[in-house]
Amino acid sequence: MLQKLKQLFTSSAAINQPQAVDLGLVTADATRCIQCGICGYNCPVGIPVRDYARQGLPVTDASCITCGQCIAVCPRGTLRWEKAEPELTADSRLST
Ligand code: SF4
Ligand code: SF4
Repeated sequence: MLQKLKQLFTSSAAINQPQAVDLGLVTADATRCIQCGICGYNCPVGIPVRDYARQGLPVTDASCITCGQCIAVCPRGTLRWEKAEPELTADSRLST
């Protein structure tokens, strides 16, 4: 009985844990970037987002807190969230 109660509380606590949402990485369309620097200027952790954007590279800086501020302030709609494509394996292709 006690064991069952423990399980109940443990599993309901796990369900109520907030889940981190995986937004992916901030990624840029370099053809849209006018190198104004507004993105990096508004980044709360000081990442030079423009340097990534002008090269069309994802922001891989480990200090990114995925706040989305750079995406929100870009006047050209250059930035977006992008998740890495899951790698296809022989097994995953066969199962679809
Ligand atoms: S705010 Fe947008 S247009 Fe300006 S540098 Fe950043 S990504 Fe480029
Ligand atoms: S998502 Fe936030 S922390 Fe990450 S690069 Fe953009 S402004 Fe900086």
